[in-house]
Amino acid sequence: MKESETCPKCTGTQIEPMNFQNSVALNFGTYYLGDLVVPTLFVCVDCGYCESWIVNQKDLEDIRKYGQKRKSTNPSP
Ligand SMILES: [Zn+2]
Repeated sequence: MKESETCPKCTGTQIEPMNFQNSVALNFGTYYLGDLVVPTLFVCVDCGYCESWIVNQKDLEDIRKYGQKRKSTNPSP
């Protein structure tokens, strides 16, 4: 959806990216890393379907490091 700019639900072609505020990002527990990472929401304006993506490569690196650190301090999931 992010790359194709076509909605997988209704095949609508108007996809609008929206930035989460940090307070909203709190609801996405697995993504939330303090103030480091805020996902971008891609919204189909035809049917309302949305996907959230981390679009910043540096943010993905931060999440990768966070995951590796989490595994080393607490091996069980
Ligand atoms: Zn749609």
